[in-house]
Amino acid sequence: MRAAYRDIKSPRNLIDMRRIIAFATAFLGHVAFASGQDVRPYRPGIDVLDYAFTIDVPDTGAFIRGDAVVTVRRTGRVSALTLDLRGLRVSRVTLNDAVARFMRTDSTITVPLPAGNSGRFRVRVTYSGTVTDGLIARKDSLGRWTYFGDNWPNRARFWLPSVDHPSDKATVSWTVRAPRGRTIVANGSLTASSITGTGRRARVTSRWRESQPIPPYLMVVGVGPLTQVDLGETACGLAELRRCVPQSVYVAPELKGTMPGNFAEAPGIVEYFGSLIAPFPYEKLAHVQSATRYGGMENATAIFYSDAAFRRGGVNTGTISHEIAHQWFGDAVTEREWPHVWLSEGFATYFSALWTQKSRGDSAFKADMARIRDRILEDTVDVARKPVIDTLTTELLDLLNRNSYEKGGFILHMLRAELGDSAFFAGLRDYYSRHKHGTALTADLRASLEAVSGKRLDAFFAQWLERPGYPEMDVRWSDRAVTSLEVSITQSGRFGLFSFPLRLALVDPNGNVRRVQVSVPAQLVTSVVLPVTGSVARIDADPDVQLLARINVARQ
Ligand SMILES: [Zn+2]
Repeated sequence: MRAAYRDIKSPRNLIDMRRIIAFATAFLGHVAFASGQDVRPYRPGIDVLDYAFTIDVPDTGAFIRGDAVVTVRRTGRVSALTLDLRGLRVSRVTLNDAVARFMRTDSTITVPLPAGNSGRFRVRVTYSGTVTDGLIARKDSLGRWTYFGDNWPNRARFWLPSVDHPSDKATVSWTVRAPRGRTIVANGSLTASSITGTGRRARVTSRWRESQPIPPYLMVVGVGPLTQVDLGETACGLAELRRCVPQSVYVAPELKGTMPGNFAEAPGIVEYFGSLIAPFPYEKLAHVQSATRYGGMENATAIFYSDAAFRRGGVNTGTISHEIAHQWFGDAVTEREWPHVWLSEGFATYFSALWTQKSRGDSAFKADMARIRDRILEDTVDVARKPVIDTLTTELLDLLNRNSYEKGGFILHMLRAELGDSAFFAGLRDYYSRHKHGTALTADLRASLEAVSGKRLDAFFAQWLERPGYPEMDVRWSDRAVTSLEVSITQSGRFGLFSFPLRLALVDPNGNVRRVQVSVPAQLVTSVVLPVTGSVARIDADPDVQLLARINVARQ
């Protein structure tokens, strides 16, 4: 998603020991290492296969009626199924169609299962109540009631009985009933639509089916006075199932005249990302004016953008390309654990810049990357104090920071420079195809990039993802000798010592440029002598914006 960065931070550093002690966790035979790979099953022994939700939204207010059929597979020795559900009243639970006992707390429903360590179960929960979060019930700026799901990161539980964690993806069907005259949109394909009743009691029922597994944080419906504007079919040669991707915008009727606006670029964006990575992974793509608290939220097949963005001159292209990129990264390949959220936000940030490169050229792309780098270097709260893979932050909204977004994106940019375009994109395609419609951790990305490139990347990943900060250095040069140039690079060591390739542009008095690359090891001072054939007027460090670093260059 695109979010405004929060500047109020919660206390942390309570368990700093974890930064220095690598430990192994053994749980139900599932062993993982903690150096950025802190994996504990959220609901051990349970795998949700499918949700079938029925939601009745009212004419006004926030009182909903819901019914959830949750199909689960038991994968270990567990004696109960626990679903997350905050606050709402549960009137009935059935297990495989028989009325079942259940235990209710304010945040969970627990249903005992028959003894065993396997089997499939279908649990149905009937519930109702006034929703306070997750499904945002509010009047739009013209006083009309609207209802939009907004679940990131773990707010599905405020309206959907679910295993509310990104590690457990499932397919989802929606049956949504709303007052006649409202438009309904949800994940997946529209499978049926009907109207019942007459006059003021008339209701519209709409059914949707998402046939690919997605995490609960992407499961949404939108209900409101929306007009659908067709963007046509795109990526026809690239779509899965050899289908085109139908795209449309759902917009408030009074804004229909402003369409398509920047959404005119959406077909090209889907085509381009499809050509870089893989066919578009879902059935359709809707862009929806909504009530999300974020600037944009990448719900699978139904991207929700803030109402304010539509009303203040339109959604910008950067947000549109960012949310579209998430359909591949975040939605189809989902971070299994929250500390790895850069696999979602860093990718969306970088692919948005890649669309700039494709649509506006190399210099616009370079300017984008320079802006991203500057945002990283000016951050003193997250980048300077925490690694990108942040296993200490417990307030999930705090993970929406310049580590997950900008630094994650710039790390991909550096990997591209390190491996070259061919190996880099082949590695991303390998990573995507291995984990499509599943989940991944950072080590999975590294494994794919290493396998395709034949290069070891353990030091790169540890240095950039498991430590705070970035290199800072002074570059001093002198050309006292006629045929050589002395260059010394002194690292500040503020965030420790880094190892990296430093690219330099040697500019002669006529403005001719020669590029050289110096391999800087993780040591305080590195001195090199570069052969030159004429005099050098100026040296530019990192002329193509390929290194995340703060660099001062001076002639001695
Ligand atoms: Zn995002």
